[in-house]
Amino acid sequence: MFLKGKRALVTGSTSGIGLAVARALHAEGAEIVLNGFGDAEEVAALQAKLGDATWSDADLTDVSAIEAMMAKAGGIDILVNNAGMQHVSPVADFPPAKWDAIIALNLSAAFHTARLAIPHMKAAGWGRIINTASAHSLVASPFKSAYVAAKHGIAGLTKTLALELAQDGITVNAISPGYVWTPLVENQIPDTMAARNLSRDEVINDVLLAKQPTKSFVQPEDIGELAVFLCRDAARNVNGANWSIDGGWTAE
Ligand code: NAD
Repeated sequence: MFLKGKRALVTGSTSGIGLAVARALHAEGAEIVLNGFGDAEEVAALQAKLGDATWSDADLTDVSAIEAMMAKAGGIDILVNNAGMQHVSPVADFPPAKWDAIIALNLSAAFHTARLAIPHMKAAGWGRIINTASAHSLVASPFKSAYVAAKHGIAGLTKTLALELAQDGITVNAISPGYVWTPLVENQIPDTMAARNLSRDEVINDVLLAKQPTKSFVQPEDIGELAVFLCRDAARNVNGANWSIDGGWTAE
């Protein structure tokens, strides 16, 4: 329970990877602030299981909603920027509003939460900022222009923050998963089928798992464990890293 007394905000934690990270941090004693969309009753059940976690349903594409969420949350010791979305389409057909929304959520939201969280972390002399990036922060895939651009951007933001805060007891790192079986991956299968003219099984085996030498999906819990490690004292010199957890995808 080495995180007792620490407050962790995990964005996009009503589902998938964020929820697994929230569970792992809570298991080590952290007080959890959840964020994300979801059915109020289902989220209430999650809150109860996470030690009466608080919940913000702020839409993180909206800067004023982020500011209100941060003001209400109070001092954040561990900030996990994880909320994200995907859209799969050739650039010529890519809806401009989708581009703007993906850049706002997958990249700009992390700038806003960080700028608002940093003063408390500096005053406390301790902090952890963990950004869920992606293998797509290191390499590209066709038809994912906004996502790849945002994820490459968050890799750069991670390094910049790491350097700026290096002497304040605050580390800033990115975790870059390959394919993790969550609703985000499941929901992109139909569009990928259309964009590439493939069947569902072909998308899973020939597009998704084709990238991962281990031929298996990463589990959300694996990412929770890594986030916990990055909060440990032993990780105090892990700073500005972009930690792949992708079965070897980006080693090729
Ligand atoms: P998910 O769809 O299961 O969860 C996304 C979460 O973000 C949900 O809680 C959702 O409510 C929240 N969210 C969506 N739009 C939001 C908004 N406008 N404001 C606030 N919250 C919003 O997705 P996931 O697979 O768990 O993805 C989490 C992160 O991991 C994303 O940044 C994603 O890019 C990244 N990632 C996922 C994979 C993968 O294979 N699943 C791989 C690499 C990186």
